[in-house]
Amino acid sequence: MQSLLPTVQFDSQLLQKYDQPVPRYTSYPPATELRAEFEAVDFRAAIAVSNYKKTPLSLYCHIPFCDSPCYFCGCNTVITQRKEVAEPYLDYLIRHIQQTAQFIDRQRLVHQMHWGGGTPNYLSLSQIETLWTAIHQHFQFDDKAEISIEVNPKSLDQNYLSSLKNLGFNRISFGIQDFNLKVQEAVNRVQPESMLFDVMQWSRDAGFESVNVDLIYGLPFQTLETFRNTIHKTLQLNPDRIAMFNFAYVPWLKPVQRRIPQDALPAAAEKLSILQMAIEVLTQNGYQYIGMDHFAKPNDELSIAQREGQLHRNFQGYTTKPESDLIGFGVTSISMLNDVYVQNHKRLKDFYRSIDANELPIEKGVTLDRDDVIRRTVIMELMCQFQLTPEDIEEKYHLGFDLDFETYFAQEKFQLRRLEADGLIRLFPNHIEVTPAGRLLIRNIASTFDTYLKQNTTQSFSRAV
Ligand code: SF4
Repeated sequence: MQSLLPTVQFDSQLLQKYDQPVPRYTSYPPATELRAEFEAVDFRAAIAVSNYKKTPLSLYCHIPFCDSPCYFCGCNTVITQRKEVAEPYLDYLIRHIQQTAQFIDRQRLVHQMHWGGGTPNYLSLSQIETLWTAIHQHFQFDDKAEISIEVNPKSLDQNYLSSLKNLGFNRISFGIQDFNLKVQEAVNRVQPESMLFDVMQWSRDAGFESVNVDLIYGLPFQTLETFRNTIHKTLQLNPDRIAMFNFAYVPWLKPVQRRIPQDALPAAAEKLSILQMAIEVLTQNGYQYIGMDHFAKPNDELSIAQREGQLHRNFQGYTTKPESDLIGFGVTSISMLNDVYVQNHKRLKDFYRSIDANELPIEKGVTLDRDDVIRRTVIMELMCQFQLTPEDIEEKYHLGFDLDFETYFAQEKFQLRRLEADGLIRLFPNHIEVTPAGRLLIRNIASTFDTYLKQNTTQSFSRAV
């Protein structure tokens, strides 16, 4: 199917109206639906099924440590400057890889691997090499595998970066958040401009295929003008992809955020102006709006995949790799195998105890039923392609024999009509199309098909804008 050429239109009234907490849909059901009652035996059964199907693999390694806390951070981290903590973690991580790999067919190829955190470059170069070697002892990689790593610019030098590239990483990403010093100080993440430009230059010199940066809007002391400056400096850096996240102020969930001066946060109207300006400037300067908070150069794989209708989404966000089974290594990591999701223990001591007991270190999980799988396809199609052809869903899930899309989703009809009346989507006899104004609210549109959201009464999700 030919995908629509993505364009995006800013409509502040619509954004205000739909500014509600909604999942990011890196998965459906969202990770909040994982349950502690889940049994490890079900995970092993899911691996056996995926071995039979020979689905390609995507690996994720989590390095939870950071030197100091960034006050905006929503990640699961261990803050410590005692670098020696990394040594036992690395041992347990490698044992976890060995333990899981014994269940996985060695013939299956890894198409994608990502190291995230925390701060993967908390590890020394020799620790990075040890981990790299351990993974490659157990898994075979496709020649064209995407191998990416997140780095913190504060603890990097040119040699470290070129060593990562020589080892085999071909993509790299780092957080900028904001170039403004006052903003950086307020969130405890001071990164001088020269440092960011150095890291970008070293990454280019090292030959990474793709260099990506993160920005955050909605941080304390940000104004339209300061963030305009951040956007222009980011354009000078010339990254391949830009993720521009909305800062979710949730101190009741993330106590570190209490250190942020709440009265310095930009007001809702200013935040919307910042978002509008950033979208306009980035798209006017050649970046394609991918969806949610992501922008990419038109010749970037993500942009090409989106234009060709081949964009996908998994726990790591948008990806060009379809149908891979994700295996997560390390604390808090999530695995996603066809219709089973599991999350590893969040606390180091629980993770270590499970590995010592030779048990899979699973904290919780969920097995999807058929309805979940159908809804997941609908939601991912909307999130990635901004359109949906009900006939495709009917064919894929044989709904047509006794049930058609319209009957199956009869309860969603009213909400779809409401979205159409508000100008977020257009409904055709056998097609649903997201409008340019609806694209910024794609999470809200997708949530129409989310049966769990209606039951979720907690504020577990970030707001839409
Ligand atoms: S370095 Fe990254 S993971 Fe660590 S606290 Fe800062 S934002 Fe969070």
